[in-house]
This record gives sequence, structure tokens and C-alpha cells, in this order.
Amino acid sequence: MPEVIVIGAGPVGLLMAAELCRHGIGVEILEQREQASPGSRAIGIHAPVLAALESSGLTAQLLERGLAVRRGEARSQGQTLGTVRFDRLPARFPFVTTLPQAATEQVFAQAAPPPRRGVEVTAVQPSEDQVLLHTSAGVRRAPLVVLAGGARSRRLVYRDSEAHTYPDRYLMTDAVVGEREDSDTAVVHLDSSGVLESFPLPEQRRRFVAWDPPGASADPEQQQARMEHALVTRGETVPVRATGFGVRRFLAPRMRRAGLFVIGDAAHEVSPIGGQGMNLGLLDAATLAPLLADWLSCGTAPEAKLQYWESSRLRSARRASALGGLNTRLGRPAPAPLNAARRTGLRLMLGPGTGTVFARAYAMGFDLDA
Ligand SMILES: Cc1cc2nc3c(=O)[nH]c(=O)nc-3n(C[C@H](O)[C@H](O)[C@H](O)COP(=O)(O)OP(=O)(O)OC[C@H]3O[C@@H](n4cnc5c(N)ncnc54)[C@H](O)[C@@H]3O)c2cc1C
Repeated sequence: MPEVIVIGAGPVGLLMAAELCRHGIGVEILEQREQASPGSRAIGIHAPVLAALESSGLTAQLLERGLAVRRGEARSQGQTLGTVRFDRLPARFPFVTTLPQAATEQVFAQAAPPPRRGVEVTAVQPSEDQVLLHTSAGVRRAPLVVLAGGARSRRLVYRDSEAHTYPDRYLMTDAVVGEREDSDTAVVHLDSSGVLESFPLPEQRRRFVAWDPPGASADPEQQQARMEHALVTRGETVPVRATGFGVRRFLAPRMRRAGLFVIGDAAHEVSPIGGQGMNLGLLDAATLAPLLADWLSCGTAPEAKLQYWESSRLRSARRASALGGLNTRLGRPAPAPLNAARRTGLRLMLGPGTGTVFARAYAMGFDLDA
């Protein structure tokens, strides 16, 4: 019997398993998918995660594959409203590292045991001394179980697992842009037609995310035409293949019951406008692993530390959710007078003094485990 079963081989489950292995714990990962997903969602890894994974050697590998983004700029109607300087933050890694989510998962997968694929967990029953799992491959049990199965898996543990859906929709594309001057700068265009985000990626690529009218056609050709329009009006002329996505918010009331822990998107989903969802989950895993290792080596749960872990991770998720919600609202289309007020507000917010607070907020400097 494994000492810990991790449900889900997304980025959070893989890191959890890798960190437990590093502490000498016997881990099994159960994953319903037959193959790893090649799609890219999360691209930004923030300073607190890089610091947390430095001792395991994972940070070095992420930095080797990633690109350091040292500045952010807010632009409107072709003018720069303000600059966010990640490179001036008092952090061990004063930048945001960008790389596709699949590449992040590969780094963690190399340090974790291979997942048992094609196994779906259908029910979870925690009791005092073990957690029982019903799966598509029969019953499994372990003293400790970590659910890291993402948004869809939360129905396994929370009675009221309905997320709040924002009215906003977005189009997204990762495109080759070639060599350019702003290759270490994230740019956010805020115009009356809504937000366009442009983030640098390795290999001369950029991630573009554009606000898209709710109810607009999901026909791929029409999505592509709308994305091209959003880019061209901000001076970008790159060939794109856009996909659409919506955004949601969910915050679990608890992250633990007896020997069952819930981490990552299964416990908290935040608007990806601002890019902190995966980072929150990675910090859940990095901070939980040593506590579970303590528990297994001593035979008793480190209750006070676990209670502190749960309350600080929930408070950090609340903060990230508030920031994601603010970004989502800020990125909506606004009629000309409101947009003018928004421009003035942003100039003030990103000015000397306050600009540092924003750099810290966007780089997850207010996470309680930062
Ligand atoms: C467009 C977009 C852009 C984003 N950009 C960023 C960003 O830049 N930075 C950031 O920090 N976050 C970002 N996010 C959020 C980020 O993608 C998620 O927070 C992250 O993927 C959550 O990881 P996870 O491991 O918790 O869940 P998932 O990635 O959802 O992985 C869960 C895994 O568990 C498996 N699973 C589920 N249920 C079961 C079951 N019952 N049995 C067995 N296996 C199961 C699934 O198949 C899956 O492989 C973005 C999200 C979107 C949509």
C-alpha cells in the first residue's frame, strides 16, 4: 500500500508527488487521462514558487526552459500609462518565468513516479486511519490522500461545488512573433474595446489574450477574425489560431478532512486574468509535502502546523481571487469617459511608490507563503 495517493497528474499533483518522493515517501499517482495534455494554460511562474522549489533543483530546470519577464507595461491607445518593475522587487528571483504549462509539467514529472493512467477516481471516503478510494480500476486505500484533480474533481469532496462564472469570455493564442525589443516585457493594452494581454514566451513566441464579447460566435474562423482584429488595432500583425475560454471563481470552505487533503484548482479556482491559479496550487503542494512527511515519519499528525497550513493557503487563495476579480473587471470594455477615468486611475496606480505595490501583488508577493 502506498503511503500517499495523489489524485491527478496536472501540474499540482505532479509537484506534490515529486516533493513527497524527495522526502522519501512512497507515492502513487492516479490519473484518468491516458496521456498528458499537450495544451497550454498557465504560462507564468512567480517568484515565491521559484524560491520554494529552489532546494529541490526544480527551479533550475524551470529557469533553463523558461524566459525571465522583468517588466510589465500598461498601454492605452498606443501610450504607455505606467510600468511595473518585477526586477526591482526584493525577491530571490525578481522576475516572472514564462514557459508553456506542458513544459512545467514535464519538469515535475521527471521528479515524480510515473502516474497510473486511465484510472478515474469515482468516490473518496476519509476515515480516522485511512482514506478509501473507489476507482475505475477497483478499490485503493492509503493512510493519506491528496486530491489534485482540478476543477472537475471537486464534486468528489464538496457538497456545494458550484463555481461562480464571470460573464467575461476571452480569446487566446500563442504565436511566433520573432525577435523584438519588448521580448522581456509583459504588455497589457486597456482600451475602450476591452483588454489585450501580450506575454513573452520562450522561442520568440508570445501569449495573446483578448476580451471577447459574451455570446459571440464560437465558430473557429470567426474567433480567429476577432482575434486578428484585436491584435491589429494594437499594432500586432501575427498569424494566429485563437481558442476561446470563460473564467470562474471557487473557494473551498476547507482543504482537509482527516487524512484527505484538497489542493490546486480542486480547492480554489481564480480568474486566470492575472495568472496566479497554478502558482497557488504549486505553493499548496510545496508547503504541504514536508508536513505529510513529518506525519508519516512520526506516526502522528502535526495538527497545529496543518491547521496553520490550511488557514494560510485559504487566505492566500482569497487574496489571489480578489486580484483576479479586479483584473477581470478592469479588462472589460468601457465607454470613452469611463476609459479616460480608467487611464487616469492606472497612471496614478502605476506611478512612483504605488507601482512597487502593484509589482508585488502581480508577482504573488502577498501570498502568505511568499
Ligand atoms: C487560459 C488559462 C490561462 C491560465 N494561465 C495561468 C497562468 O499564467 N498562471 C497560473 O498560475 N495559472 C494560470 N491558469 C490556471 C491554471 O491553468 C490552473 O490553475 C492549473 O492548471 C491547475 O492545476 P491542477 O493540477 O490543480 O489541475 P488540472 O491542471 O486541472 O489537473 C488536474 C488533473 O487531474 C485529473 N483528474 C481530474 N479528475 C480526476 C479523477 N476523478 N480521477 C483521476 N484523475 C483526475 C485531470 O485529468 C488532470 O490531469 C490559467 C488557466 C487558463 C484556463
